[in-house]
Amino acid sequence: VFASSELSLPREAAAHAIEEVVALARWAGARGWVPATSGNVSVRIGEGFAALTATGADKAALTPDDVLVVPLHATRATEPRLSAEAPLHLSLYRAQPDVGAVVHVHPTAAAWLSRRRAREGALGFQGWEIGKGLRGITTHEARVMLPVVPNDQDTERLALAVASRLATVPPPCFGYLVAGHGLTAWGRNAAEARRHVETYVELLALALEDERAGVEP
Ligand SMILES: [Zn+2]
Repeated sequence: VFASSELSLPREAAAHAIEEVVALARWAGARGWVPATSGNVSVRIGEGFAALTATGADKAALTPDDVLVVPLHATRATEPRLSAEAPLHLSLYRAQPDVGAVVHVHPTAAAWLSRRRAREGALGFQGWEIGKGLRGITTHEARVMLPVVPNDQDTERLALAVASRLATVPPPCFGYLVAGHGLTAWGRNAAEARRHVETYVELLALALEDERAGVEP
């Protein structure tokens, strides 16, 4: 399968990445963040590959058979079991060498707030202790920005829109929202990606409470 690839697959790292994808998917599934087989997770394997959840899999009950190992330049033309959202993962790995794991989820607060704030193009959070869950944030006073891009069923085009939007966001930024859709966040490894997702989801839940209470952000 990988005969034409310029890099050879590190087998041991691949087996470990598959285990991490299964654990991340079950974790997201247990929290109700990937309803109706939505959402997807991936883990980088060396320089040239990633392990990703296959299309349509129930994340809460994911098994290693539901995980694909593909080169970072794979497309649905070459790998038909790739999820429609795979370009959003693979483009991040290609663009940012320190991205080790990517999680895409659909928590209610992410879908709802991203649609409400689509025109502003970003959500800002400040004053919340949980913001320190993001790498480099050391105080509740720091401002955390989460960009919002419009939704697009053409996910290759969406990945390009995300890349150009991310280039304009000041660090630290480890995620983005797609309007009316969900959250994508990443980290240097699976543990950090998980912590960043938990931080953003909690910040979004707090912002949603503010919105309900009529409090200005
Ligand atoms: Zn999605």
